Amino acid sequence: MRIKFWGTRGSIPVPGKNTLKYGGNTPCIEIYNGGDEITIIDAGSGIRELGIEIIKNPLIKKINILISHFHWDHIQGLPFFTPIYNKDYEINFYSSRKKIVPNENIFDVLMQPLFFPVTKKVLNAKINFHGIKEGESFNINGFEISTVKTHHSLGTVSFKLSNDKVKFVYLTDSEIFYDADNNDPDINLIKKHNSDIIDFCRGCNYLVHDTMYSIKDFKEKVGWGHSNNISAAILAAASDSENLMLFHYEPRYTDKMIDSLLSETKKFIKKMNYNFKCAAAKDYMEIKI
Ligand SMILES: [Zn+2]
Ligand SMILES: [Zn+2]
Repeated sequence: MRIKFWGTRGSIPVPGKNTLKYGGNTPCIEIYNGGDEITIIDAGSGIRELGIEIIKNPLIKKINILISHFHWDHIQGLPFFTPIYNKDYEINFYSSRKKIVPNENIFDVLMQPLFFPVTKKVLNAKINFHGIKEGESFNINGFEISTVKTHHSLGTVSFKLSNDKVKFVYLTDSEIFYDADNNDPDINLIKKHNSDIIDFCRGCNYLVHDTMYSIKDFKEKVGWGHSNNISAAILAAASDSENLMLFHYEPRYTDKMIDSLLSETKKFIKKMNYNFKCAAAKDYMEIKI
């Protein structure tokens, strides 16, 4: 099985000379086990290139797309995901069924004439929408998919994909709470304010977590619905996760700044004697299981 990152940046794509190492695409992850079915988490700008790869693979006929929420950076690649125009594909979307969420209307919104040159009439794939209740579990392509509401805007969910080989948690956009206006991140406060999320992540092999900000920058962004690297490390420890993957970087962070974010996190993990690995997710990175 292959898990591949196609976009790891938050908010807006940031191509350029300062983002060559970690990449500039917004969130998109592929999970592929061979065979005719592929699963994708989020449809940020990274999904455009993934679509080109899918078209090249004659085996794939069914595409499952899990959408964490409908902020631009998580859906902006969809009109450029070429399988939607091709009648050979069945595409199943899974997202929160909250009333505020567009679901079936997503292509009406994305392909309004004001924003896009063609309307959804040109979509030839067989497209289905599945509204999910936060906390609900369902099965696709040999995975049990569990969900939990994150600490972000309404209708944002985290997905956990489990099978007999792996427990993989995708948890962005989400703010780890610890009364940050009055405290530094602390394991007891984090356990107290995030027990739902810690239970959800418990014992996972991979925790891909929102680390939009360094601990220093986070002080100005408390309440914005995103996390810092130190609280993410504490959450990984509290949930006995095996690997923490930093993810959803602030768009102005250069490669050098993300290198520093990673080294600061690793130093903290060492200082605390925590027993898990940490890496910074980057575009095109692959995990083979
Ligand atoms: Zn985001
Ligand atoms: Zn968001």
